[in-house]
Amino acid sequence: MNTKREIAALCAAAALFSGCGNNSDPDANSFDNSEVYMSSSSSSSTVESSTSSSSSSSSTSSSVETSSSSVAESSSSSSSTPASSTASSSSVASSKPVSSTVEIRPTEIPDIPPENVSEINENTVVAENDEIRIEKDSALRLNSEMELNGDLYVEGKLFIEESAKISGTGTIHVVNSFDDIICIGTVTAKIDAPEPVEIDGVTYVGGVLVANKKYSLPKDFGSGLSKDLNAAVKAMRADSGFKMPIISGFRSYELQERVFASWCAKDGEEVARTYSAVPGHSEHQTGLAADITSCMASYANTAEAKWLAENCYKYGCIIRYPADKVAITGYIYEPWHIRYLGKSTAKLVHDSGLCLEEFLEIDG
Ligand SMILES: [Zn+2]
Repeated sequence: MNTKREIAALCAAAALFSGCGNNSDPDANSFDNSEVYMSSSSSSSTVESSTSSSSSSSSTSSSVETSSSSVAESSSSSSSTPASSTASSSSVASSKPVSSTVEIRPTEIPDIPPENVSEINENTVVAENDEIRIEKDSALRLNSEMELNGDLYVEGKLFIEESAKISGTGTIHVVNSFDDIICIGTVTAKIDAPEPVEIDGVTYVGGVLVANKKYSLPKDFGSGLSKDLNAAVKAMRADSGFKMPIISGFRSYELQERVFASWCAKDGEEVARTYSAVPGHSEHQTGLAADITSCMASYANTAEAKWLAENCYKYGCIIRYPADKVAITGYIYEPWHIRYLGKSTAKLVHDSGLCLEEFLEIDG
């Protein structure tokens, strides 16, 4: 309810913890982070004024927001100042030595007014047992470490930047969608997923499509392999040097019927179910899963499989059926089966050490 005040308090706490704002840091001079990066501050900042000398637009928000939006919209700015992305970022770089707090990333925050974006750039923030709520049209950008011991509800956007970390005994509650968290940093705090939602016979948890032993897909669902997954595999090939052919990507309901029937004929249904999905329950029907190179247990011992297990999250994928989660997923270890989630969510799942069922708090 009083989100902005709470976040503002948090930001103030950040300033408090770092000692920023007083003269404890001889190099800080007039560059007061807590002022500059609070987007609700109406004053134009140090960085701002160094960027555009003819800054007649006194109603601008914080420097970060202004310059990042100028990066995003390049030619939208009004005046005759050379407010190109390169100009602004280079002048920022020269105005202060390299510092993560001054880093300007061309991150777009669609639908969030700049004045509703708060930033925490200080050393460590301790959020004790408070309830913090990032409301729908607000965003919090974290550039530092947060020890979260209370509850953080994310209805708006939460950016966890590369240098940032959220730890502690508290919980991050995803209210609507995992897409509301953009995580490049690290989260070790618990993440609470929203309840599953069924839309046209398809189950989503926080926007993540689910197909597993419990949740099925309609017969006519799916039309091919996800372009994002395909691009991710291409990028992995390029970066790793491994060939990584997709030996099985999208499978229609009908194809899965044939596949499952053939395995049942070979091993019997009970055994077949441990490695092959009943039609309608295959993740391959989502178009977001692919089998890479080999569906043999020995694949796990190859250098390629090890690279895949260690790195695929960086490309937005997870090893969907890990060796230590067989009892939960209901599937044998499949080091070849990757599932695309997008980079941020894949990183969150990877860092959690959980399988997708555990992460989404659903049955397997
Ligand atoms: Zn598979």
